[in-house]
Amino acid sequence: MSDKYAVIGNPVAHSKSPLIHAEFARQTGHDIAYTTIFAPLDGFRAEVLKFRDAGGKGLNVTVPFKHEAWNLVGAHAGYALDAGAVNTIKFIDGQMVGYNTDGIGLVRDIQDNLKYPIQGRRVLLMGAGGATYGVMHPLLSEHPDTLIVANRTPDKAVSLVAHFQKFEKFAINGISARPYSQLSDTKFDLIINATSAGLSDEMPPLPNDIFAADVLAYDMVYGKTTPFLRFAQERGARSADGTGMLVEQAAESFFIWRGVRPQTAPVIARLRGEG
Ligand code: NDP
Repeated sequence: MSDKYAVIGNPVAHSKSPLIHAEFARQTGHDIAYTTIFAPLDGFRAEVLKFRDAGGKGLNVTVPFKHEAWNLVGAHAGYALDAGAVNTIKFIDGQMVGYNTDGIGLVRDIQDNLKYPIQGRRVLLMGAGGATYGVMHPLLSEHPDTLIVANRTPDKAVSLVAHFQKFEKFAINGISARPYSQLSDTKFDLIINATSAGLSDEMPPLPNDIFAADVLAYDMVYGKTTPFLRFAQERGARSADGTGMLVEQAAESFFIWRGVRPQTAPVIARLRGEG
């Protein structure tokens, strides 16, 4: 019988994870069945336990359950220790171990696929939700020059930066939270949109003139040209959507569960309609 995996979320029907993991399984010759689980907003725990008790081997966790998953699992590993958010669960003898592969996915896409080294860059990270928590430590581990976090609700950015204060020295000139209205005196090399604004065709209120000459504008939302990506393209900036991150974080989950690394490039190409 195939080993059972799934992505759990609300909503979840749109998820590309079943397609990505089916492709990884085909590539590596692993026999897995990967499905979607829709959990009611008050029913995450019950659905996870039901899946585990039915012999499930692992889960991906998506919106809005990543914080709840962090609280549910019995142990945290890797970047999940600090993230306060879990996107991957591995069941080991009935125990649940939580991981966070979002940041690894983002960093691999930016550095390995897009060939844009993060070290020494002035980084602006927009948003202070689950995705931002997941990518802070991995981004800081690449030793940017600075990491500034901006969020529509400024207090959440302040809390987030306080949460990661112990990693402040990883950035050459430190980390800080700043309202969007106070960004215009700085130029950024790497601007990452970790907000969900693009899903509703909106963009954070960025000042006009914060793009450095060699800037990369990255939107975690995938499969569409968001207003932020259009804003960047209109200014001649290099830009990328979150398709590569999506596939890279999935590949890291697959590695955690199965112990082998699938190839990501053909899957990214396929999702972009190029493969
Ligand atoms: P959350 O719901 O936890 O957080 C959403 C964030 O977006 C908040 O900071 C919120 O600000 C901000 N926001 C929402 N609308 C606007 C707006 N109109 N203008 C400015 N800010 C806005 O979501 P997640 O952090 O989990 O995910 C964020 C995005 O990243 C999602 O779109 C998700 O699809 C994508 N993502 C992509 C991944 C990939 O692999 N490519 C992986 C993980 C996430 P406020 O605090 O003020 O409400």
